[in-house]
Amino acid sequence: MATLLFHNIIFGPVQSRRLGVSLGVNLLPAHGKWCNFDCIYCECGWNADHRNDRRLPTREQVREALREKLQSMQQSHALPDAITFSGNGEPTLHPQFAEIIDDTVALRNELALHTKICVLSNATNLSDDRVFHALQKTDKPILKMDTAMESSARRINQPQGNYSVTRVIEQMQRFDGKFTLQTLFLRGVHGGEKFDNSAPEEVEKWLEVIRLTRPREIMLYTINRDTPAQSLQKLAKEELLAIAQQAAAVNTWGASIQIAG
Ligand code: SF4
Repeated sequence: MATLLFHNIIFGPVQSRRLGVSLGVNLLPAHGKWCNFDCIYCECGWNADHRNDRRLPTREQVREALREKLQSMQQSHALPDAITFSGNGEPTLHPQFAEIIDDTVALRNELALHTKICVLSNATNLSDDRVFHALQKTDKPILKMDTAMESSARRINQPQGNYSVTRVIEQMQRFDGKFTLQTLFLRGVHGGEKFDNSAPEEVEKWLEVIRLTRPREIMLYTINRDTPAQSLQKLAKEELLAIAQQAAAVNTWGASIQIAG
């Protein structure tokens, strides 16, 4: 597969349908991947294939790289709509994630007041209060939950360590709705096991997550690029639309529901 790794701390900007002109920040190794999930659809590839580089950028390196880029974008009157933490793995694993968010808020306030700070996270570190409070300082914490069924999470996300859907839901509830729930829908076979997180029983449990956590935004999408596992199938736009309509039916608090790709 064509692996998509980001070799710099700052990448882009890219035009994102979800976030507008988005400047990426990679807090993970420049030539490796570091994540406590190993999603079968991860564009960065399998964890096992990318353990060669374990060096993380320092807080100072991130701050200076971001300052330099924002200053240059400011000079050319092309500031981004969003600064988005994503990159080669799970950004909240960086031991100085909280301090880096503080620096980013300060830089944004100084140089790019209208730019939103977004974080794409797999939501596994929310019980760490430093991570939780740092995410609350951002404009858009985008928290992944692809399935509310533990067995499917083991197949699709392959979490390392003790992953519990119930615990993640409890942590998401602490956001009091101020987060985006992000779910990738797909079906296929991996390791001889079939899965389909768009099946009716899956969607029913996922709707229950929505009812319990009341996110202000819900993002549905499907696979769009090469995936490390073969035999994965993307959903048709109409199928995503049908799931979005079910989400709209339980959404009594006015969440925005978006379909991407
Ligand atoms: S959580 Fe994100 S970075 Fe981690 S394996 Fe899944 S898709 Fe890849």
